[in-house]
Amino acid sequence: MAIIQCIVCNKRISSKAETCSHCGARLKGTTEEQLQRASHLQKLKKNRRLQSLSFLAVIAFAAGFLLKFFPPAQNSEVWEQVALYLMAAGFFGYIIMRVWMMFNKRK
Ligand SMILES: [Zn+2]
Repeated sequence: MAIIQCIVCNKRISSKAETCSHCGARLKGTTEEQLQRASHLQKLKKNRRLQSLSFLAVIAFAAGFLLKFFPPAQNSEVWEQVALYLMAAGFFGYIIMRVWMMFNKRK
């Protein structure tokens, strides 16, 4: 008996269970290989989402950087604030996404 992830709700269940004890999805008839492929695909999908989020973080950082060094002529103080927030959000967002992806991979 092994512990697998439900293909519907992603919670841990026994591979011998006929239905998921969490969401009730029918699992009987699906082979171990199918289940494994499904959970692998789910992991990939999650990783891709994290990757696009970290890409957004990089863009936010770059936009903040540009605003800081090439601020618009009007309201430059406001823009400087915006630039700082963008850079901070992008920087921390990127780091958080990277750490998250690392944990996701190790699982
Ligand atoms: Zn389930």
